[in-house]
Amino acid sequence: MKAAAFTTPQPIANRPLKIEDLPIPTPAPNQVLLRVLACGVCRTDLHIVEGELPPLHDRIIPGHQIVGEIVEIGDARVEPALSLPKGRTLLSDRAAPNSVVPRRVGVSWLGGTDGTCLYCQRGEDNLCDSPTFTGYSVNGGYAEYAIARADFVFPIPGALDPFHAAPLLCAGIIGFRSLRVAGVQPGERIGLFGFGASAHLAIAVLQAWNCEVYVSTRGGSHRKLAVSLGATWVGTEKDKPPVELDRAITFAPSGDVVIAALSSLRKGGVVAINAIHLDRIPEFEYKLLWGERQIRSVANMTRADARDFLQLAAEIKLRPKVTRFSLDQANEALAAVKSDAIDGAAVIVP
Ligand SMILES: [Zn+2]
Ligand SMILES: [Zn+2]
Repeated sequence: MKAAAFTTPQPIANRPLKIEDLPIPTPAPNQVLLRVLACGVCRTDLHIVEGELPPLHDRIIPGHQIVGEIVEIGDARVEPALSLPKGRTLLSDRAAPNSVVPRRVGVSWLGGTDGTCLYCQRGEDNLCDSPTFTGYSVNGGYAEYAIARADFVFPIPGALDPFHAAPLLCAGIIGFRSLRVAGVQPGERIGLFGFGASAHLAIAVLQAWNCEVYVSTRGGSHRKLAVSLGATWVGTEKDKPPVELDRAITFAPSGDVVIAALSSLRKGGVVAINAIHLDRIPEFEYKLLWGERQIRSVANMTRADARDFLQLAAEIKLRPKVTRFSLDQANEALAAVKSDAIDGAAVIVP
């Protein structure tokens, strides 16, 4: 199969991803093999390829917003209704329609948990002590085929084509989790600091909840997109929203933005940081935090977040703005994310 993989983290300008011809992987028990239909490109992929997240393997295929079709099941016990023999049995087109296994599924950043640690026992998948991360600790979806754990794939709503569904799987789910972590209530005033792939999906959810949305972002085209998506107010990263915010979500990997968001909050307000990597948190005056304001990080996602968000996305007919890249253009796709050159989300279609 064709895959875009890298060995040594490097700046994206050096084109670290190489197109390789690798064997189609074999699913182990409790795994499925997916034919990749589309894979979203996330800023975290950039942090992995450029080395802000330390490498865990000699070579890895990035990509953790995979929409794929199940073509092989590693163990018949995954789906008894199919009565498949064990081994490399490719599902025929006739087998799937009557199956309770959703044929078209999504895979996200959280590729698995140990199921045994304190956090797993509490149902907090996102905080597991020994998690698996798709496209980081195991190979991801910048490829024609990918392996996923059978209990960590999510049905994709039928109304969504793979190309538009892919960005929902990290940008969408984690944006949704950020709204939960921030404690957003219907009708509140919400600030979005940064307006990339995740924010442009979160705004649709906020509108469904009748919230007023205040967007602060550096990119001119991102500001235009925010206006077109119904933001109440849009400003540059230097402008302060004209009202005190109930909650704010920051999307930029910058601690300065976190402090800008904090200084826009009413008493009791919450900033949720939607970033896996932050440059630093600058020193700030305690009076910004005083009044029971809170700063919270958003770590990963739970399977419940994924299921709830995908259902909501189908209900509100969420349709991401997407730009298509081929597998050969994987470096270009990451470079575009790095420079904020595209509106909405980048998606690789192998
Ligand atoms: Zn991601
Ligand atoms: Zn665990």
